Amino acid sequence: MSQIELFNIKHKEYKTCRTCIHRERWRCGGSIIQYCGKRKSNRTFNNLKKIKVTDIACELYQDKQ
Ligand code: SF4
Repeated sequence: MSQIELFNIKHKEYKTCRTCIHRERWRCGGSIIQYCGKRKSNRTFNNLKKIKVTDIACELYQDKQ
């Protein structure tokens, strides 16, 4: 592989929480926090796991379509 090609490597396609039907957007004060509606957490007030839209999808992922 040439040096030029190494600058143009494309990311491998993978799914993230962004396109999952279980992603929930909660308004907290002036900001929006993303939670997973499926996965639980003991550390959040609503017992939902806090996520980032860029997190790589877990096995509970379901496409939005
Ligand atoms: S991919 Fe997993 S963690 Fe992310 S929103 Fe969907 S179910 Fe939740």
